[in-house]
Amino acid sequence: MSESTTIRWEQDGDGIVTLVLDDPNQSANTMNAAFADSLDAVLDRLEAEVEQVRGVIITSAKKTFFAGGDLRDLIRATPETAEQVYSGSLRIKRRLRRLETLGRPVVAAINGAALGGGYEIALACHHRVALDAPGSKIGLPEVTLGLLPGGGGVVRTVRLLGIADALLKVLLQGRQYTPDRALAAGLIHEVVADREAMTAAARAFIEANPDARQPWDVPGYKIPGGTPKSPAFAANLPAFPANLAKQLAGAPYPAPRSILAAAVEGSQVDIDNAAVIEARYFTELACGPISKNMTQAFFFDMQAVNSGASRPKDVPARQVAKVAVLGAGMMGAGIAYSCARAGIDVVLKDVSQEAAERGKAYSAGLLDKALAKGRTTPEKRDALLARITPTADPADLAGCDAVIEAVFEDAALKHKVFQEIQDVVAPDALLCSNTSTLPIGLLAEGVERQADFVGLHFFSPVDRMPLVEIIRGERTGDEALARAFDLVRQIRKTPIVVNDSRGFFTSRVIGHFINEGVAMVGEGLPAASVEQAAAQAGYPAKVLSLLDELTLTLPRKIRREARAAVETAGGTWQEHPAERVIDRMVDEFERPGRSGGAGFYDYEDGRRTVLWPGLAEHFAKPGAQIPFRDMRERMLFAESLDTVRLLEEGVLTSVADANIGSVLGIGFPAWTGGVLQYINGYEGGVAGFTARARELATAYGERFNPPALLVEKAERGERFTD
Ligand code: NAD
Repeated sequence: MSESTTIRWEQDGDGIVTLVLDDPNQSANTMNAAFADSLDAVLDRLEAEVEQVRGVIITSAKKTFFAGGDLRDLIRATPETAEQVYSGSLRIKRRLRRLETLGRPVVAAINGAALGGGYEIALACHHRVALDAPGSKIGLPEVTLGLLPGGGGVVRTVRLLGIADALLKVLLQGRQYTPDRALAAGLIHEVVADREAMTAAARAFIEANPDARQPWDVPGYKIPGGTPKSPAFAANLPAFPANLAKQLAGAPYPAPRSILAAAVEGSQVDIDNAAVIEARYFTELACGPISKNMTQAFFFDMQAVNSGASRPKDVPARQVAKVAVLGAGMMGAGIAYSCARAGIDVVLKDVSQEAAERGKAYSAGLLDKALAKGRTTPEKRDALLARITPTADPADLAGCDAVIEAVFEDAALKHKVFQEIQDVVAPDALLCSNTSTLPIGLLAEGVERQADFVGLHFFSPVDRMPLVEIIRGERTGDEALARAFDLVRQIRKTPIVVNDSRGFFTSRVIGHFINEGVAMVGEGLPAASVEQAAAQAGYPAKVLSLLDELTLTLPRKIRREARAAVETAGGTWQEHPAERVIDRMVDEFERPGRSGGAGFYDYEDGRRTVLWPGLAEHFAKPGAQIPFRDMRERMLFAESLDTVRLLEEGVLTSVADANIGSVLGIGFPAWTGGVLQYINGYEGGVAGFTARARELATAYGERFNPPALLVEKAERGERFTD
């Protein structure tokens, strides 16, 4: 008989057994070997002593309920270990099946986050009570790691909610619900305010339901909404793969397809056979390359980034109480909202009171929408708005302990606004600029305390974009860098840290994506194929439509400044074939992008209609054709190769920052796990990628030549890791 080391057995005089999940070796409970043994032990005992057991409560002694599968194990799964992964998945499911068929009521008392495996345990209970704890999340986010829930999550959500709701509400998006929303979505039965109420609710359920069974174990049970065997459902079924195919646009995400298949196939058989089907699909995903990429990025890299791997260690943490936002335009208004949402007082300054008020009205607009959707309350909205003070008077910035500047992109103007306020704000206030293109070193010259000056590059729209790129100037001090990092965490965004350089990391790398797409148009390839290649590579925005949004004059302005800087320094500018296409689009055809009413696409009332037919006439060359794979890979490689150069140049110092920044900030396809993980995960690894880069260089230009660092890594058999 196994011993239970991670589950504590507590039994009271009423015969209620509380199983306390409490792994002594980890800060969170995970589905590791010790847990599996412990589950065996408690199940053996529950079955042996069932006569003395009235009911079971499962809860945890940790802050979270249960963290889920052990990803450190899972990321090492290979086709050679597939058998083990498969039997591991089946074993967990058989145990959970024993729990739900024990013949006694079992209640999950969800005291904190129950994601993935944690929610799968809860699903095997007859009743789910969740504590309304801060940060508590419930759901099955496996799809975001390229996986599917392999502990019965597909099988049971399908039986609980029906195929359509299970797919759309839980499995395909991997949404993480707050307890209240989980209740509304039917994922749990009760939400309670404190631990006492949680225990009371669990006991009350046990008292009232001595014969509790899962709905699917009650004779006559039918899956809500039907299965492919029922004509009504069967008629709708083809829409599922069709919608999925449309959403994925050919991008290589295997998990959603496997989830759909496991749900539909599993609905047509009994629960034990459904578990086998789920285990098969799970194993295939876990042993494949894409779940590794995504787990590396969205679990391990994300953890490293957010826990401060790039933050100077010796600076004590500090919170901002009052922030000055200079410029209430698109970015300033969004930054003000994000800060106020995190409880920070904001003074929002623009050139006139009206302009500042308009900036604040942006927050009111967002909050009214949230209110209409039931995502906030009138009290919360009013409290947030009360934290934003719009002004045109620099004197109102007195006492601000941080400044975020977001005025027009003009170095002289930025110098001027910092001059205006530097003696008004707190004497040690952190000074940040949201510039997207100007060197931080240049802007720092306009302030007296250069060590306190740092770049804080937000992305648009600020309220929705989770990334902030922190730029360390040559004279930025450790303290300012750490404080900037803490500020980004305080507003619940993800900070990456880079060193100062033209375009920093994100703007420079996304420029290579855009240039490559445009260059292909210049080579005479059909623009529609270029767009399709971007979609199939997995980019969230097609390349030409993205450039239309940014406007074609922007990369041109950036390029001219960069070229001037190179030539002033005595260097030679390496022209990119995209430049001529952009120049012709702007100068010859007067098509500067969406805001100008015409770009690579036609527009009607600001809405994109079709690709401009003139592209075929002026650029396309009849018969021009290259392999579709090359079209996709040229864009991906252009970005990854430049990222390696940024590592060589010391602009980037962290692989995790590069991976996370590329996916969250500039839309590098998530299936790759980020711009450097793409190289690690490429067929044949770093060496395979390097060989392919050489092929692309031969066919399409020297810009694809592998940088020395890449060649070195390939030769040494190393990967890109921190
Ligand atoms: P915007 O034109 O929408 O807003 C600029 C605001 O600054 C205007 O409201 C203007 O009245 C105000 N302003 C001008 N002079 C001022 C002064 N002396 N004092 C106070 N306010 C003044 O511009 P935006 O798109 O919000 O961009 C602002 C900054 O953010 C720029 O540096 C830009 O490069 C950067 N940025 C923009 C984006 C983006 O996607 N738009 C992304 C990242 C960074």
